[in-house]
Amino acid sequence: MLTLRNPHHHLHQGRHEMFRGRLVPCHETPQRLDHVLAELTRRALGPIRTPDTDAAALDAALAQVHEPRYLQFLEHAWSDWLALDPANAGRDALPSVWPAPGMRSDLLPENFAARLGLFAFDAGTPLTAGSWFAARAGAACAIGAAHAVAGGDRSAFALSRPPGHHAGAGFFGGYCFLNNAALAAQALRDAGAARVAVLDVDYHHGNGTQSIFYARADVLTVSIHGDPRTEYPFFIGHADERGAGAGAGSNLNLPLARGTGFERWREALRSGLDAVRLFGAQALVVALGVDTFEGDPISGFRLRSADYLQVGQDLASASLPTVFVFEGGYAVDAVGINTVNVLEGFGA
Ligand SMILES: [Zn+2]
Repeated sequence: MLTLRNPHHHLHQGRHEMFRGRLVPCHETPQRLDHVLAELTRRALGPIRTPDTDAAALDAALAQVHEPRYLQFLEHAWSDWLALDPANAGRDALPSVWPAPGMRSDLLPENFAARLGLFAFDAGTPLTAGSWFAARAGAACAIGAAHAVAGGDRSAFALSRPPGHHAGAGFFGGYCFLNNAALAAQALRDAGAARVAVLDVDYHHGNGTQSIFYARADVLTVSIHGDPRTEYPFFIGHADERGAGAGAGSNLNLPLARGTGFERWREALRSGLDAVRLFGAQALVVALGVDTFEGDPISGFRLRSADYLQVGQDLASASLPTVFVFEGGYAVDAVGINTVNVLEGFGA
């Protein structure tokens, strides 16, 4: 299996995230990716490369999934943050004010602190000097992996951070800025797959991916995740969200109670794979978070390391060209083993 790794991911390294009223060290760290890369290298699952970077082609791909004003915001965010106060050079940008329902979100505020809140849905996602560059390079990994699969590879793995599945067409949050899984799905569509499925196995609901494709009939989105009544991102991810308009029926949420173990989780995976089959997908994107692990510090399922081999085997049973996109997983010492177990179980 080809891996495309993000060579610039270290440029995004937040200091703190706001968590339950405290600034705490970021859970989403560069070491996560380094552990996966080390484990991939150790097991020699296939070639590991960096993606081709054609800036114009990448811009065009980003614009298919994300809104122009949001991409503009991200591109200039760091210089705007410094313009707000030169002392900000030593601080991450975190929002502290948001438009509540009933307030205006159609107008772009001049004050950058307000723009931060307009485009963010939490204060857990620090924007740093290198965030835009790192996120762009990560998006190139996802798009490159999709191109490899569209070109005939059985599977490919986009090893990138920051993660992507919480980012919507016009917003960031949940440690995510650009939606890598959505970009991969769109690239597969553009390369000729008439119907594409995104299966999100991260502990947290893939709200960004859901929202991007919610009204579209050509991309099925399935997410297995902690029940939003108690788990982040809280305000979306319920079972009754089935898609809208032309996309009615093309979204499936499988929320599970905190504390769920592998047996019950695997039943949900089988339901998700049944939906992929019924949809008639010609290609699959797996949003591969391993924060379902029993030792994850911010999540609540109870999968064990050996279970991820079975997850990979189950995913292979769909017999579809498959792009894996790295998402969450915060038990840093285990994230490499767990992620590569899925890929090994799937088969190179
Ligand atoms: Zn997650």
